[in-house]
Amino acid sequence: MDPTETRVESVRDVGPDAVALTLESPPEFDARPGQFVKLVFEVGTETHPRFYTISSPRVDGTFETTIEIDPEGDVSPLLGALEPGDPVTVAGPFGNSYYEADARSVILAGGPGVGPAVGIAERATEDGNDAAVVYRDDEPMHTDRLDGLREQGVFVRVLGEEGGLADAVSEAITNAEGEQVFVYGFADFLDSATDALEAAGGAPDEAKLENFG
Ligand SMILES: Cc1cc2nc3c(=O)[nH]c(=O)nc-3n(C[C@H](O)[C@H](O)[C@H](O)COP(=O)(O)OP(=O)(O)OC[C@H]3O[C@@H](n4cnc5c(N)ncnc54)[C@H](O)[C@@H]3O)c2cc1C
Repeated sequence: MDPTETRVESVRDVGPDAVALTLESPPEFDARPGQFVKLVFEVGTETHPRFYTISSPRVDGTFETTIEIDPEGDVSPLLGALEPGDPVTVAGPFGNSYYEADARSVILAGGPGVGPAVGIAERATEDGNDAAVVYRDDEPMHTDRLDGLREQGVFVRVLGEEGGLADAVSEAITNAEGEQVFVYGFADFLDSATDALEAAGGAPDEAKLENFG
């Protein structure tokens, strides 16, 4: 979809310096959890495009992205300050690292990578498939949705920055046929997660990765 103006439905705090931004889906918009969109903002005379990954299990009517606000950033603080009804220009979806009705989805998430993690795990559960989430963050977001997944029997492990990633990944993966591993987050997390996956006997080359920068 080319850049299209849509509107904010809601902005919800989902952690310290983190919001879930829900936008009205433009009529022709279709996407899967794990794909990302481009949001375009005018700041003064400059255009500032930024990418955000879909964190809702579906995009019918509305869709959600989860945004970690960098107080020093140009765009994320503006997203956190949006209000219902405000206009936003959106393009996409983009990316190949998305849920495709896999029998078991194992999602390794760092920081705002928890957005696609909860979106995929919720969609997988709705579809009757299995999911597991390993999430590393010193200030976790979406704790309510992670609790909801746990209650539905999903393996959920939330880690601080002090370690334990290799053990948690080892517990989460089964290497059974039909299992798909996803990794979402910034570059340093992707490095740690692929190392942990390798140490756990997984196949980093077959994982679907999305690098936030
Ligand atoms: C495929 C993809 C998916 C993504 N999905 C998500 C997502 O789901 N959620 C999410 O929160 N983010 C996501 N991101 C990251 C997001 O697009 C933004 O990069 C992020 O929100 C920061 O934008 P910003 O404008 O607030 O910060 P920026 O203005 O880009 O600044 C980021 C940091 O860099 C510093 N900085 C900027 N310019 C300089 C400079 N010249 N010298 C030194 N330091 C500088 C700033 O002080 C700030 O601390 C994704 C990125 C990609 C590529």
